[in-house]
Parts: sequence; C-alpha cells; structure tokens
Amino acid sequence: MERAGNEALDKGQYKTAADIFRSALASDPNNAQLHVGAATAAYADRRDDDAKAELDRALSLAPKLLSARALMGLVLHRKGDLLGAIRTYDSLAHEPGTDKSIQATAERWQREFDLQLRMQQTFGDQFAVSFEGPAEETLAAKVVASLTRAVDRIGAVLNAYPTRTIPVVLYTTEQFTDITRAPAWAAAAYDGTIRVPVRGALDDEAELDRVLAHELTHALIHTLAASAIPTWLNEGIATALESTSLDWAHQTVSQVKPVPLEVLTRSFGRFTGGQAKLAYATSALAVQRMLDDAGGIAVANLIRDLGDGVDFDTAFARRIQRTFDDFQASFRE
Ligand SMILES: [Zn+2]
Repeated sequence: MERAGNEALDKGQYKTAADIFRSALASDPNNAQLHVGAATAAYADRRDDDAKAELDRALSLAPKLLSARALMGLVLHRKGDLLGAIRTYDSLAHEPGTDKSIQATAERWQREFDLQLRMQQTFGDQFAVSFEGPAEETLAAKVVASLTRAVDRIGAVLNAYPTRTIPVVLYTTEQFTDITRAPAWAAAAYDGTIRVPVRGALDDEAELDRVLAHELTHALIHTLAASAIPTWLNEGIATALESTSLDWAHQTVSQVKPVPLEVLTRSFGRFTGGQAKLAYATSALAVQRMLDDAGGIAVANLIRDLGDGVDFDTAFARRIQRTFDDFQASFRE
C-alpha cells in the first residue's frame, strides 16, 4: 500500500494517495513511514496543518527520520514559521547522508529571514505590505491602493473576500528569484504571501495592477478552498480576472493546437516560457467560458466543493450544469 500511495503521489493524484495512506495507517498506525506518506500527500494538497500533524506523529515514533524532518522544514516554511524551518534544516544538514541542497535551502531561508528583519511595513485594511527601503514607500502605498481596488472588483465576481490580513512582500528582482525560485517567466507568486518583484512596475501602473490582481485572485481562491484545486482552474481564474481583455489569449491559442485541460492539472512551474503562455491562455479562456455560461458564484461554488473533497466531475456537473467532457468538447471547438 505504501508503494501504491507513492505511485499515486508521483502521478499527482494527491487525494487518492491520501486515501491509500489513511487506510494503510488504519491497520498499521505506528508506522512512521506511512505517516510521512500521508504528510506528503497532505503537503501536495496544500493542507499544511494536516501535513504537520502527520509529521509530528512520524517524528514521535522515529525522531531521527530524515524524510520526515526534510518535509517538516518545507511545511514550517510554507506555514510562515521561518525560524522553525531554518532550525530543522540546520540540524538536518549535519546528518550524514543528507545532500548539499539541504544546506543550500537552510542558507536561502536564512537570507529570507534576514531580509524580513530589515523590511518596513505599511498597512491597508486587508493588506500588510513589506518593503525594504524608504525609496519603496510610495510604491508600497500604490500597491495597497491597487490591491484594494482589485478586492472590490474581483471579490464582487466570486463573492469572496479576504478573511484575514493578506501579507504582501515587495522584492528586488534578485531577491524574488532567490527566495521564491520561481521560473524566469513568473511575474509574481502567491504561497499564502503575495510576493512581487518590483522591476519596472513603478513606471507601468497598468502592469502593476494586472500582476497584483492576479495574485490577489489566488489569495481569494484560497479562502474558498484550503486544499489544492486543478492548476488550470486556479490559474485560469486568476488570469481571466487579472485584466479586462483576453485578446492576447485568443491570439496565443489561435496560432497553435490548444492543450487539453487534463494535462494542465499540475503546477506550470516545469514549463518553458512559450509553453507557460499557452497554458495560461488556455486556462484563462476555459474559465472565461465557465464565467460567461454559469457565472462567478457558480465557479466559486465549484472551488468550494473541490476544497470540501467532492470529486471533480461531480462538482463540475453540479455547479457548471454540464459534464466536464461535454464542456471540454465544446471548448475545443
Ligand atoms: Zn498565478
């Protein structure tokens, strides 16, 4: 069952993997390795609290277990416990048999922590924006204003609003690349915190608005579903709602064969720039079709259902009022 669980993880079937590890643990509850498996499935599904609980259990059974400690560092980091993550990886780096990447990650997190200590903050009603120097103070105020406008506009489409203050960090391009390790084509990132490289954003307000609206949409989606949803749906909503025109997306897909949505369920991080552009364009057009046909509330309810663990085809048929196969066939045309 452990092997079956790991195979499901490799295929990106996180919920299936979680089910397999859960039933394996029912008959073998003190197997630390199975708890790590369950934690890996939960982490992939973005259920970080569940992942941490499983790892705590694994480490109480086997305190030195390397795989549990390696994943614990990632979980703590994503939960925003930077110091805990650094401590975990520092101790792990001293174990024989761990590779250099552990040390490198610990150093990267330390740079992130040092930067955080240097940063100042400015606050809006729903946002806390961190920035490094006084030169960025005006920009930080612009960012708060832009995000506040985006909340009004996009919140109304999805009927979803921030449930707590959303942290935002403004980086230089170098800091952004170092800390997020995002692909070169990424304009910003959201992982519980909106992270934005400020680049030439100062000069181009329309571009700043677009990038911030995109990441804000990811934050709103996260308030609807605490676990992972298919990437095409997540990115499609963010891309469809980031600006008012999808002309670029129509142009992009008209030049090449469109990609089936099934191949876009996992992270786009592995794509080259050209592939990514096609993936975003396809996803945005699919979601725009759903918004046009069924409306923003239906799409928001679909996300909620997925977060509640309803299987995709069932949730899609219930909320969008047609089968996913039927939708895809008409979308391809
Ligand atoms: Zn995105």
